[in-house]
Amino acid sequence: MKKIGIVGGGQLGKMMILDAKRLDYYFVILDPTPKCPADSIADEHIVAGFDDMDAMLELASKVDVVTYEFEHINVKALQKMEEKGYKVYPSSETLLHIQNKYDQKLWLKQHDLPVPEFEEIKSLDELKKAPERFGYPLVLKTCTGGYDGKGNAVIHSGEEIVTAYESLGAGTLPLMVEKFVPFEKEVSILVCQNTKGEVEVFPIAENVHVNSILDETTVPAVVSEQAKEKAMDIAKRATKAFKAYGMLCIELFVTKDGEVLVNELAPRPHNSGHYTIEGCYTSQYEQHIRAILGLPLGNPGLIRPTVMKNIIGTKNCKANLHGLNEAYQMSDVKIHIYGKETVSVGRKMGHITASADTLEEALRQVRYAHEKIYFSEEE
Ligand code: ADP
Repeated sequence: MKKIGIVGGGQLGKMMILDAKRLDYYFVILDPTPKCPADSIADEHIVAGFDDMDAMLELASKVDVVTYEFEHINVKALQKMEEKGYKVYPSSETLLHIQNKYDQKLWLKQHDLPVPEFEEIKSLDELKKAPERFGYPLVLKTCTGGYDGKGNAVIHSGEEIVTAYESLGAGTLPLMVEKFVPFEKEVSILVCQNTKGEVEVFPIAENVHVNSILDETTVPAVVSEQAKEKAMDIAKRATKAFKAYGMLCIELFVTKDGEVLVNELAPRPHNSGHYTIEGCYTSQYEQHIRAILGLPLGNPGLIRPTVMKNIIGTKNCKANLHGLNEAYQMSDVKIHIYGKETVSVGRKMGHITASADTLEEALRQVRYAHEKIYFSEEE
């Protein structure tokens, strides 16, 4: 029986396990939260922090291959595992080029992959000079640790420079600036490479964010054929450039005149790929597991138009779920609840997917169900 270790026991890890249990694989997770989402279905759970080197090595010693479900982990721990001969996918080398947003953009640029103009910022003085090159608005970002827009500040005028600099740690964290891209659409493309070098690309997904958190993904994306081709080409070249084994998600900006620019990469299954569970012949989770075990990849094709909507916390309370009876009035809807114990504002609690004959119908069903689902203190 194959044994797989996952660093992180959140919803992405949980969905990997759910899919791979069809093959009866054995899972060991490492996560500091005893009741994290994947805890209820993992075979073993090492309760430890992501910077606990000994615990990371213990995880590696128990399994055939180690993977991870989020990228803010210690690259040195992955390197140590590799030095000791354990298999880790994506490799520490891949993560090294992706983890820091500035290094990631530099690597993309060096491989002729299109990115917005960017620059490293080492002091407030350098930031004050940035508008000469980038104009306004410009985007200040922390190079490490950001997610769901935390770690970004858009600067519209000279008066906002100091506040933005201070809001992102006043130089205590590495910073970069980017030219603001007046995009028409945000899309993502998921690509997977197995350890034998075979590559499969999923359909392009169109993403709408609310408060910098992904709200809805619709597939197929409504973008020009030319933009689709560019995105496909970027996906294939990025996988090779980063020597990425397993799933790689590439978030892209598409402008009005058809330009396609890379915003950022994630070396793992991604929120914008949840739609593949019901929408595609092979899900991103199954594909990831096949890839890291060196198995042939599955067909990533879209079965029917599909919409995914996140269930995001709107208040702080216990995570008692309500509204399933009403939500399931929509017969094409599938509801996923991650099993987090408490709700907080902006926290991803679950998601809803519908595949239907048309995108409009899938959207209608997902939004109806979404309105009915809520969490409260009451059982
Ligand atoms: P995170 O890592 O927190 O998801 P991102 O760098 O992806 O942060 O940015 C979050 C959102 O901010 C993006 O989805 C996009 O809407 C917006 N954004 C980021 N960079 C730019 C940019 N250069 N131009 C315009 N909008 C941007």
